[in-house]
Amino acid sequence: MASEFDLIRQYFKRPIKDTDLGIGDDAALIRVKNGYHLAVSADMSVVGTHFFANAAPEHIGWKSLAVNVSDMAAMGAMPKWVTLSIALPEINEAWLEAFSRGFFACAEAFKIDLIGGDTTKGSLNIAVQILGEVPLDKAIKRSGALVGDDIWVSGLLGSAALGLAHLLQKTTLSQSEEAACLRALNLPQPRIDLGLALREVATSCIDVSDGLVADLGHILQASGVGATVHLELVPCLDTIKPCLQEPLVQQALLAGGDDYELCFTAPPHCREAVLALSETLGLPLTRIGEVGIAPALNVLHHGEPIKLNRLGYDHFA
Ligand code: ADP
Ligand code: MG
Repeated sequence: MASEFDLIRQYFKRPIKDTDLGIGDDAALIRVKNGYHLAVSADMSVVGTHFFANAAPEHIGWKSLAVNVSDMAAMGAMPKWVTLSIALPEINEAWLEAFSRGFFACAEAFKIDLIGGDTTKGSLNIAVQILGEVPLDKAIKRSGALVGDDIWVSGLLGSAALGLAHLLQKTTLSQSEEAACLRALNLPQPRIDLGLALREVATSCIDVSDGLVADLGHILQASGVGATVHLELVPCLDTIKPCLQEPLVQQALLAGGDDYELCFTAPPHCREAVLALSETLGLPLTRIGEVGIAPALNVLHHGEPIKLNRLGYDHFA
């Protein structure tokens, strides 16, 4: 019978790259460069809330880290270190092997060291804390949006929500849509390169985890501004574009969570720079609206206001 320490050694201890002392002592030791802030963020993934009990463990591993990496991207920070605290209902070696494979695929993709954590028995629950570096005064906060700024989003929105709707049999997707949407739902791609480049361009930034309206709403509130967003400009899968009248599609684009794209504001004189960045990164960056005066967020579809009744995902709503 494997002990807790055997499990940690086998599934969670890997060579470290940029850490003075990693897993195995009472605390890890890391060194932050002079002239940098340590950026810290945590996100918990809970069975039944964030993923289905029978979800592929490799996807759970990737996503539980990716959603944390995405918070670093949204701050313009470089992710460096992560801790993993996990409650497991039982020791299932096949599950642990696949989970850690997914987790480390993400850690290696972004050159992040796993430096510690905790392992306990309980219903499946994965708490990840991430630490990153950002030069002093370079972090991109939610509070910097200015009246007249453009509003941009990266990638495509709504895919993850449509993937979830498909799994819940609330909609039927074509085969190609299904593949793209389930990939967006299960293997979100944090936009670190974009976040780093936006340090020089964006006035504010957030990652879209709870839905565009909710997350852009956080920027507007923190910045004391309002905004207008044009639904027909919101980037989505080509085959979804003719369906913008459908409530489920509007819901997915405006209130669907889990896309982990970046939503940011930048002054109009930066348009060329943002489009050049899009070319360099090979990542669509789309202007979807403009910052206005407080307090309202107006969403228009070809100029007609859309009523927003479900503003993103709130665990307690
Ligand atoms: P302590 O009793 O001091 O809390 P633990 O026995 O809980 O230490 O953990 C031993 C070592 O293994 C520590 O360095 C801890 O950070 C690390 N660790 C425990 N669980 C995990 C995990 N799931 N992932 C990564 N490191 C872990
Ligand atoms: Mg412990």
